[in-house]
Amino acid sequence: MTIKNIVLTLAMASALASCATTTQDSVSGVNRSQFLLLPESQITSMSNAAYLQTLKEADSKKALNVDKAQVDRVRRISNRLIAQVGIFRPDAAKWNWEVNVEKSDQVNAYCMPGGKIMVYSGLIEKLNATDDELGAVIGHEIAHALREHGRERMSTALVQQVGVAGIAAYLGTKGETAAAVGTQAAAMGTSLFFALPNSRKQETEADKIGLELAARAGFNPDAAVTLWQKMGAQGGSKPPEFLSTHPANESRIAELKALAPKVRPLYESAKKS
Ligand SMILES: [Zn+2]
Repeated sequence: MTIKNIVLTLAMASALASCATTTQDSVSGVNRSQFLLLPESQITSMSNAAYLQTLKEADSKKALNVDKAQVDRVRRISNRLIAQVGIFRPDAAKWNWEVNVEKSDQVNAYCMPGGKIMVYSGLIEKLNATDDELGAVIGHEIAHALREHGRERMSTALVQQVGVAGIAAYLGTKGETAAAVGTQAAAMGTSLFFALPNSRKQETEADKIGLELAARAGFNPDAAVTLWQKMGAQGGSKPPEFLSTHPANESRIAELKALAPKVRPLYESAKKS
C-alpha cells in the first residue's frame, strides 16, 4: 500500500467509525475512544441469535439452569450489578438482559453484547466462589459488554478482511459489494466474539469498570483480588478456559489492588443503603 493510500484509508476509516467512547466517564477513569464501525444493532442481533442457540443446545443436553438455588443466586447477584449499569451508560439499563447458568466443568463466564450473561457451574463450584467474588467476575464480564469490546473486535476483524472500501460500500449503499460484505459479516458473526480474545487494553478496562460496578452494587472490591488468585491457583496441567483469555498475572492483581481504595467509598455507601 502506498503512503497516499494508507492516508486515504485511515481518513475513510476514521470518518466511518464512530470514534466515540461507549461509556460515560466515572470513578474508574475509562474513556478511551473506540473503533466501532459495525452498527450496534447488527452486533446485538447476531449476539441474540447466538445466545438463543447456546441456550437451546444446553437445554437439549439437560445442562441449562438445572440447579434452581444456584440459578437464583447467580440471577440475584447479576441483577444487583445490572441495576447499576446506568451510571456507565443509561441506554444499557433498558437492554434485554438475560442471565443463565450452564452445567459444565468449565471455569468460565461471559456476557455477550446486549447483555446476555452465561455463568458455568464449574466457575462457581471449582472456585467455591463467594457472592462478592461472583459479583467481581460477572461485573468484569458485564463491563466488556458495556464497553462493546465485542463490537470493537468484530469491526477491526471485518476491516482486515474486506478493507475500508468494502465497509464503506456495505454501510453506504445496497450494491453488489455491499451485499458481499454483508454476507461476510454475517458469516463471521459471533464466532469472532469467542474466537478473538480481548486485547490487554480491553481487559484492563473491564477490570476497572467491573470493579467500580461491583462496588456500586455492594460487592467488596477485595473480592476481585481473591477471585483472580483462586483462578490462578486453578492452573496446573489443565488450566481453566477463563484463564486462556484472562491471564491472572501479578500485574492484573496489582492494578486491582491499586484501584480498590478508589471504589471502596462506593462500596461502603452501597452497603449502607
Ligand atoms: Zn475479560
